[in-house]
Amino acid sequence: MEKSLIVSMMDEERVVMEAERCLFCYDAPCEKKCPAHLPISQFLFMVRNRDFIGATKMVRSSHAFINTAGYVCPTEMLCQSACTRAKIDSPINIREIHRFLTDNFDVEDYLSLPPMDKEEVAIIGGGPSGLSCAFELRKMGYKPVVFEEGELGGIPVQEIFEERLPREVTKKDIDFVFGNFVHEIKREKVKEVKPLLDKYRAVFIATGLTKETELEIKGIELKGVYKARNLLRKIKGGENLPDLGERIGIIGGGNVALEIANTLKTLSPDREVLIIYRRGLTDMKAFPEEIERAKRIGVNFYFQSIPEEIVGESNVAGIKVSQAKLIKRDESGRRKPERIEKSEFIIPLTSVVIAIGQKMENLFPELERAKGVVKIDENFMTSIPGVFAGGDVVNGGDTITRAVGDGKIAARKIDEYLRRKRDV
Ligand code: SF4
Repeated sequence: MEKSLIVSMMDEERVVMEAERCLFCYDAPCEKKCPAHLPISQFLFMVRNRDFIGATKMVRSSHAFINTAGYVCPTEMLCQSACTRAKIDSPINIREIHRFLTDNFDVEDYLSLPPMDKEEVAIIGGGPSGLSCAFELRKMGYKPVVFEEGELGGIPVQEIFEERLPREVTKKDIDFVFGNFVHEIKREKVKEVKPLLDKYRAVFIATGLTKETELEIKGIELKGVYKARNLLRKIKGGENLPDLGERIGIIGGGNVALEIANTLKTLSPDREVLIIYRRGLTDMKAFPEEIERAKRIGVNFYFQSIPEEIVGESNVAGIKVSQAKLIKRDESGRRKPERIEKSEFIIPLTSVVIAIGQKMENLFPELERAKGVVKIDENFMTSIPGVFAGGDVVNGGDTITRAVGDGKIAARKIDEYLRRKRDV
């Protein structure tokens, strides 16, 4: 295993030296790029002054999944990408500083919460967005009631590889939020949202996207074809994996594709893991850090390769792909692949893993949707007054940090909404 995946790379002296490089910009561009709205320049200032406890309290009180974020937040695409210091030499290593704090200081006894004297709010989904919303609502005196039939914590506890994000790290966040900020948990699945409004003054939907997108090509029914998130859940849960053989083809170019590719390669370095992607390297949606890791550990890539058919008798023997040329950009800003006629070739494989995206379960038929996800307005409100939504179920799949940020903003919007209702 690569050491940097688990072990924080900075000791106290290096952390202070790193914080001393901060320019404490008056407009803190790093903070504007943080979807969870962390007060970055303030905690760096405290670290610079060696007030580690104060800095830890500050990050702990502003982010429900702060321990988890210290391990997997793609800061190079977020806060660090906007850091002014990069114009002089290199951006401040914000994630390592906050990781140092959360790994080394426990501040849970600092809590001083107001009485829970406001309304009950129903939160559907116990992942990062739902628990972040509960965390913020409780700080304002509301009674968050979380509906979650499965394990609390969502993707970080269920799917991210243990060697990249140990379960105990996310458990610290979940125990903290669940123990202090959730009024009640209901172990049930909510399929319709309107009945909840008879009991709760507001509802927040944060179910995430739980279904995997199907690939509709010939041969998909062959033995040896698997779904990526399903395999990731098995690996995280310590279950036995099916025999994937020695040459595994992963179809897709997003974060799930990279997560399963890197996980399978790390588990068995001798086998060949190939990513088969219809666009080019610079069009991949996956985090650059994960793409770099894939290259480092020996994952191979077939770019500009459009899957046409999974071939084999009853078991997977390979995949037929066409080569693609990349033409002008689509609405996502990425280059569109166009099939080159008569360019097909077969990549021999022992198994195929589909990682081409995820979609919403068929729930909440009463809500308006847009592009397959729940439609919300600028106040995070859905087409039904009093029903709010955030996280992947709204943005189609983004970072844990974005999910936390959505939960945070939605809590504020719910508070504004309920205040207005009280004033009427
Ligand atoms: S942008 Fe960089 S230098 Fe400026 S306050 Fe943020 S971390 Fe410090």
